[in-house]
Order: sequence, then structure tokens, then C-alpha cells
Amino acid sequence: MKSTPNMMRLTTQRQIILEELSKVKTHPTASELYDMVRKRLPRIGLGTVYRNLELMAENGMILKLEVGGTQKRFDATTDTHYHIRCTGCGKVDDIDTPVMDDLVNAAAANSSYQVVGHHVEFTGICPGCQGSGQGITIQ
Ligand SMILES: [Zn+2]
Ligand SMILES: [Zn+2]
Repeated sequence: MKSTPNMMRLTTQRQIILEELSKVKTHPTASELYDMVRKRLPRIGLGTVYRNLELMAENGMILKLEVGGTQKRFDATTDTHYHIRCTGCGKVDDIDTPVMDDLVNAAAANSSYQVVGHHVEFTGICPGCQGSGQGITIQ
């Protein structure tokens, strides 16, 4: 009979990754989370963090954000909610607006699909970038 020390360790790692992700509202990338998790698990690798994030997203424990930008971001809030992405610095915040059922109903009424979900991404210039002019690209 095989012992399962690796499974146990993986579970602990996953718990710590989830705890760290739950602490922040910044929708961190895998490498940002890696920096946070590494303070508690100094020997963990970026690949392990990344694999666990992908697994947790597949299981619906966390959200993998489908927002613009080059890096995937993760979110411990799994309820339907909306995001705004800063076009200056790329940061992603939650927008506390009610879920747009009208939008889903309109999509269902105007297609032959059974509509099961939707993604809305707002873009804007965050308070930090508004003053600095980073939101405006000057060529
Ligand atoms: Zn910004
Ligand atoms: Zn969010």
C-alpha cells in the first residue's frame, strides 16, 4: 500500500494558496501569488503554485479571470461579479454592481442558445493613474 505524503503536502499548499488569495482584492497573477505564498512556504516553486491555481479554477474553488492583458489573474470570489481593468497599469478591481440579468435575458431572447453565463469587463483609468497621466499613452 502506497503512502500519500505528496497528496497531503499538496492539500496544505493548496489551502495556503487559497488563504493568501482570499486575503487580497487585487486579483493577483500567478507570480504575484507565488511571492505571497513563498513567505509561508519558502520551498514552493512557481510551477507548483501555477498548477494548483489551474486545478482550483477547474474545480470552481477560485476564478481564473478572462480579462485583457498578458497574464492570467485569479480571484477567490467565485460569485458572478464584474471587473474593471486599468488601461494604465493593468490592475483589476471589482465593481459592485448588481448582476445584469437583463443582459442575459436579452442574449437568450436574441439567440437560439441556452445562455449559461456571461463575462463583462470594464476598462478605465484607476485613481492612481489619473493623476500621473499613465492612463494616456503619448506617442
Ligand atoms: Zn492604473
Ligand atoms: Zn473579482
